[in-house]
Amino acid sequence: MARYIGPKCKICRREGEKLFLRGSRCYTDKCAFTRRGYPPGTHGRVGRRKLTSYATQLREKQKVKAIYGVLEQQFRKTFTRATRISGNTGENLLVLLERRLDNVIYQLGFASSRTQARQLVRHGHIVVDGKKVNVPSYLVKTGQEIKLIDSQKKNPAVLKSLEERDLDRIVGWLKVDKDTVSAKVLRHPNREDITLPIQESLIVEFYSK
Ligand code: SF4
Repeated sequence: MARYIGPKCKICRREGEKLFLRGSRCYTDKCAFTRRGYPPGTHGRVGRRKLTSYATQLREKQKVKAIYGVLEQQFRKTFTRATRISGNTGENLLVLLERRLDNVIYQLGFASSRTQARQLVRHGHIVVDGKKVNVPSYLVKTGQEIKLIDSQKKNPAVLKSLEERDLDRIVGWLKVDKDTVSAKVLRHPNREDITLPIQESLIVEFYSK
C-alpha cells in the first residue's frame, strides 16, 4: 500500500500552516514551521505569491491529503464515495476520512501521529470487535470496540503517546479507556467534530471542474 515517505515538515511550510504531521515534535520549538515559516526551496524567502482560484483549490486538496496521509487515487475514491452519500459532499468527504481506522487510532491517543497510527494498524496490532484489522482505510462504525492486541499494551511508544494525550483532546464521538488501552465508537463524527482548518468546499470545486 503506497504512502508518502518524503519530508513532512516541508508540506507544512509549503501549505503555510502547521498540519501536525510529526506527533509531539510539532508542539515543541523544534517545529520547522515555527523556525522557518516560509515555503521551502531557493525562492522560499521571497514570499508567497498570490494564488489563482485553481491553485487555491489544489492546495486545499493537497493539504487534506497530507493531513490524513492519503495518496491521490485513494483520496479520489473517497471523494467519489462522498458524492454518493446524501447531504453535503465536502462534509461527507471529511467524515469518511475521519472514520479511517488510522485516524481513529491517532485521535484516541494510541499514537502520536497518523503515520505512527498507520504503522500500528499495518503491523496487525489493532483489534476491532474482536478481529484483527490491518487496513488503515477501514471505516469504523458506531458501537464498535477498538483495542490494542495484548502484547502491544505495554508498547513504550503507545504508553508515552497516551500519557501525553490530554483527555480533553479526545474527540466527542470516541470514548477511550486509558487503563485498558481500549475505546468505543459512540457515534459517527460530524463536521463540528473536525476542528482542522479545512475549507472542504474548495476540494468539491476542484473535482467538479
Ligand atoms: Fe509541521 Fe512543525 Fe509538525 Fe514539522 S514539526 S510536521 S513543520 S507542525
